[in-house]
Amino acid sequence: MSSAMRSVAEISRVFARYLALEPRAPAPELPRGVFALHHLGLPGVFGARFVPCLGPEQRLRSTRELVLPGRCVACGAPAQEQLPLLRARLLRPAQVLLEQVPHCRRHAAVGPTFWFESTPIGADQLWEIAAPSPEVLADIVARASEGDRLPPWRAFPALSPESSGWRQGDGEAWLHIAWQPFWASLGPEPRRAYLGRWPAPAGWGAAWIELPAFASLTA
Ligand SMILES: [Zn+2]
Repeated sequence: MSSAMRSVAEISRVFARYLALEPRAPAPELPRGVFALHHLGLPGVFGARFVPCLGPEQRLRSTRELVLPGRCVACGAPAQEQLPLLRARLLRPAQVLLEQVPHCRRHAAVGPTFWFESTPIGADQLWEIAAPSPEVLADIVARASEGDRLPPWRAFPALSPESSGWRQGDGEAWLHIAWQPFWASLGPEPRRAYLGRWPAPAGWGAAWIELPAFASLTA
């Protein structure tokens, strides 16, 4: 099975083959950050959208590694086989380190059941993944949230702290998806340590965090 770029229609057909084998109702309560993909004609398939953190060895590299748990992405059972990644609209493949996706033997016989795509968001990357197991998706997102986060002045070098770009478009999406949950999770000492690792440039004085676009960070 090739991992070449596929259209959403092709991917829908792949998922449909899996769903014909094992119809599955949507989970009544989805893990945080996971959503259903009924609207794409994919009942029983779930998605997650996130901006991965930089791993400990990745601070100075542009590549990011998507770390998958050793569980089948369709059912969560222990993985027995690896299948090639199912890709859609992958814009910058050289920046993603992921070739093999874990499946149990039963689901491996059906075909790939994991869909991944990425799009640039500033100097960072917005990732979207889809699979039939919402629990495995939540696990993947949790793993991708470990590590360091690019600061706003590195993710969007063209935006000043006062820019309207933080209230619309990619800047707003990045602030909401990537930065706010990360910064809100840090206490005072980790915040000081972070600003030591990623010193703010001129124009990003200590007061930036009080600006309206960032105001919810201090709540
Ligand atoms: Zn399975």
